[in-house]
Amino acid sequence: MPGPGSEPLNTLDPRAPLVLDTRELGRRPGSQRQVSRTVPAPADLGIEVLSVPEGAPVELDLRLEAVMEGVLVTGTASAALEGECVRCLEPIHDEIEVTFQELFVYDDIRDSEGAEEDDEVSMLQDDLLDLETVLRDAVVLALPFQPLCQDDCPGLCPECGVRLADEPDHTHEAAIDPRWKALTALTDEAQQDPTD
Ligand SMILES: [Zn+2]
Ligand SMILES: [Zn+2]
Repeated sequence: MPGPGSEPLNTLDPRAPLVLDTRELGRRPGSQRQVSRTVPAPADLGIEVLSVPEGAPVELDLRLEAVMEGVLVTGTASAALEGECVRCLEPIHDEIEVTFQELFVYDDIRDSEGAEEDDEVSMLQDDLLDLETVLRDAVVLALPFQPLCQDDCPGLCPECGVRLADEPDHTHEAAIDPRWKALTALTDEAQQDPTD
């Protein structure tokens, strides 16, 4: 065990919702523990346009399994998502369920082996592990880059900004022949009065 003077500066708080205590496993390879808990979502769990609201409940079902070099965590997380459609800005309410697996390596084993520095490796700290990064990576990976309210969201009217999904027959009085619309949009800046 590291002495008080050698503890890392950001020691994990065993009471934090996403910190798990693995001491019960006794470092015996093969010993397992199931953990089910509901935790408040940490900040920034998602992407800018779609995320789990901070503090919203995240249901975790985890299996902690001791292996030779650490603790293997396998789990699922499910939560509600809030965001907005990137085309029409309509609020999106959705749900997400992600699965993840991560090996957390015993910190003292790595220290004694003098292993090379590797930021990609998740570490246990005094037999505690912090699931937050693993959870965030899994959620972000599962989200669409461009969330839409519906697969074929037509977006907003380029002329007046109305949401076209609400008004499929939406037109303007001086509507241009739709076959030309795409073209005129491209050349809009150079466009003269179309009745000219
Ligand atoms: Zn939309
Ligand atoms: Zn319009």
